[in-house]
Amino acid sequence: MFGQNSSKKNETNPENQKNFPSQRPDNRDKKPSKPFFKKRAPEKSASPQGQSNWEVSDQPLAEPSRQQTARPQRPQAARPHAPKPHAPKPQGEKPQGKKKPFHKGPGLPPRGPRFSNNAATRIPSKPPTKGPSKAPITHGKLRIIPLGGLNEIGKNMMALEYEDDIIIIDMGLEFPSDEMLGIDYVIPDVSYLEERKNRIRGIFITHGHLDHIGGIPYILPKLDFPPIYSLKLTMGLIDQRIEEFKQQKMAQLRVVEPKVPLKIGKFTITFFRVAHSIPDACGLIIDTPAGKLVHTGDFKFDETPPRNIQKADIDVMESLGKQNVLGLFCESTNALKPGHTMSEKEVGDTLDELVKSIDGRIILASFASQIGRIQQIIDISIKHNRKLFVSGRSMIQNIEICRRLGYLHFPQDTVHEIRKYKADKQPDSQVLILTTGSQGEAISALSRISHNSHPHIKAKKGDTIIVSSSPIVGNERAIFTVINNLCFLGAKVIHSQILDVHTSGHAKQDELIKMINYIKPKYLIPVHGEYFMRQALQMLAQEKCKIPESNIHLLQNGDVLNAGQGQIIRSKEHVETKYILIDGLGEGHSGSQVLVEREILSQNGALIILVHIAKKSGQIKGLPDVISRGFIYMHESDEITKEIAKIAEDAYRRIVQKNPGAKRGDIKKYIQQVVDRYTTDKLERRPLIVPLIVES
Ligand SMILES: [Zn+2]
Repeated sequence: MFGQNSSKKNETNPENQKNFPSQRPDNRDKKPSKPFFKKRAPEKSASPQGQSNWEVSDQPLAEPSRQQTARPQRPQAARPHAPKPHAPKPQGEKPQGKKKPFHKGPGLPPRGPRFSNNAATRIPSKPPTKGPSKAPITHGKLRIIPLGGLNEIGKNMMALEYEDDIIIIDMGLEFPSDEMLGIDYVIPDVSYLEERKNRIRGIFITHGHLDHIGGIPYILPKLDFPPIYSLKLTMGLIDQRIEEFKQQKMAQLRVVEPKVPLKIGKFTITFFRVAHSIPDACGLIIDTPAGKLVHTGDFKFDETPPRNIQKADIDVMESLGKQNVLGLFCESTNALKPGHTMSEKEVGDTLDELVKSIDGRIILASFASQIGRIQQIIDISIKHNRKLFVSGRSMIQNIEICRRLGYLHFPQDTVHEIRKYKADKQPDSQVLILTTGSQGEAISALSRISHNSHPHIKAKKGDTIIVSSSPIVGNERAIFTVINNLCFLGAKVIHSQILDVHTSGHAKQDELIKMINYIKPKYLIPVHGEYFMRQALQMLAQEKCKIPESNIHLLQNGDVLNAGQGQIIRSKEHVETKYILIDGLGEGHSGSQVLVEREILSQNGALIILVHIAKKSGQIKGLPDVISRGFIYMHESDEITKEIAKIAEDAYRRIVQKNPGAKRGDIKKYIQQVVDRYTTDKLERRPLIVPLIVES
């Protein structure tokens, strides 16, 4: 039984870890199990190791000209859950002990999960913080500050602050839009929290998708590694990233159970299970001195989830309706879509029928994060006597983690890494290949198959490709290209517009109404979505749930809500929330010079002007050298190059004559401006202009 009144005796103080139910799998202190797959080098995207050492520099290549004050727009909606998820263990099943590998190939010793709620084995405690924050404290009010996730699908993060206690909900990343050239990820701006980091009591993660956990390794060090709380699979995924970033010694990872209240400062937080496309997805109940709040996390309602996903805690949602919930943070992703999402079971049944009816080889592409779906695919391949071969690093990594933690179940010798696949020895009718790349990602396994460049799989006539996902906005063109190429190679392609081979992990309108009617909040704050999605939820709640417009807050990232005395009111205050861009090892922000320069380079190329001068006299020595890259076609370049050299020479002479003491930077800036004017007026092009002065 769950409820506010019954929670006292179960209440757990995280500082007193002995009350935590142990989450340690049985095998953790025993011999480590072998990995299913050979351990690989970390993914470029996830690890700072081995990445380009190109750094985001504050120093512009050339002084900004009028054209170079352009700006990159904020990222558009991006892939919500890119690579990564996992599946939970079915209810009532004990964690497996020692597991055998899928195959007997060589492999590094596997890691046992490091996270634990056993105080004796927990990671070192929080490092000392640097004195109390000077930031002002607001008394007697709860402050609610969304730091990401409100103008995008991605980088979800929110802070709740009551006097000198702050908790954080989720810490996601976002994939960059096309115009964020060369950027790996976008993460939330946590400047506000950095100024108050000694007040942060904990980070509460709803589930293991990258738009909820992906920012952790980038942000954690900025906040002095506050403890992270989540369910076990979510923590397994966080643990993986923590390890890739070599933060094991600092991170404090605390696994929690659903329905067990945690007292953290002036907050009491209780996780409850919701249905989603990944096991261990949760919503949060947050009891505060200003009232009770509920956060749905990502959810849908599914009566018949895959066998490795535990059912939602409907009893908790129902009981909340009687507890005067002040505010509900509700996800909005599918608020424009009428009806109810199809159950995962229906998708499983469709896939089952499909696989049964196909004689040839099957290649099935899905999100690596669809852990429920992956369990169904494994079960179906076993049922129809097909060996499953897995291709794609994120898919392999997720299956590995999920099986180790007891969230994916399959007998030995049924699932193999793609390296084990021998096309000439394995009858096509006995093969199912599971791959990544359902969004047409250029470097994915499916894309490589479509280009005939996959080292182990050559698509051919007789193959059936099943794309078990739906296109995310913006990815359609890339997906069509992959499908075109696969068809050209003779394969038959089946996707969600042909058969029900996919269902969303996010609630549609009927389910959103159901959730709001369960919780019965006084105030509604739509989260997790572009503005138009959140506005759709607002209209739905007004019309179907009778929540007045004045009690629904449509916020922007950085807006501040104040809660107290039974009200949630919008403050005039706004916290800065830039787009923080991750690029290899570097970090910058939206509008930074490097991105502006990349955009100019991508559209207009570059002009490098080498001005040779005499060391002693400073006199220019002949015409400057002009080197162009990506600027003009060769047949027209000679004349233009000469003209630019002449203009640059004149510009140098002019400024030196006018101002004999001119600094080197000013001279270069002047040359750059003069040449820029020429290319703009005469050629209608604005390349990146880089004047260099060489003494000899
Ligand atoms: Zn999700």
